[in-house]
Amino acid sequence: MERLLEIEDIYERERKECIHEIDEMINDQHIKNVVMNFVCQKCGSNLVSPIEGLTPLTLMCKSCSDEFEYEKSMVEIISRQYSMRNYVSYKETGTYETYECPNCRNDSFSEEEQICLICGYQKRYEKCWRCGETLTVDEQILEGLCSACNNEYNSLMEDD
Ligand SMILES: [Zn+2]
Ligand SMILES: [Zn+2]
Ligand SMILES: [Zn+2]
Repeated sequence: MERLLEIEDIYERERKECIHEIDEMINDQHIKNVVMNFVCQKCGSNLVSPIEGLTPLTLMCKSCSDEFEYEKSMVEIISRQYSMRNYVSYKETGTYETYECPNCRNDSFSEEEQICLICGYQKRYEKCWRCGETLTVDEQILEGLCSACNNEYNSLMEDD
């Protein structure tokens, strides 16, 4: 019984330390939240914290000493989570649940949550300023126009 308590104590202490390190070493609020809830893909422990001074962001599991790059592991986790869901969604509705993020270029922009699950990118333009259509993540490069309005605009320019 005493031994068990000891183990719990050690766990609590290490978890606190991880949270402290995550808080100290990661500035981005989205990434911070993701790493706080990150579970080691090898052993399932949440005693995960960043390795100081490493870019790209690399995490270490204090239980099994496994090291892994944040972005790479997230790409794997998301593709595992979403490949089937994207397949089904596309078959049923013609749309995907995740799209390519214009910022980190991974297929990690969640349509449901309207945020990139890896880098935290959020759409800059919500709606087309000309017709009010909701803009997809692919249309963000058109500076606030939807692709239909953008095409129209381009053909007007060509006619001149
Ligand atoms: Zn581990
Ligand atoms: Zn991203
Ligand atoms: Zn439009």
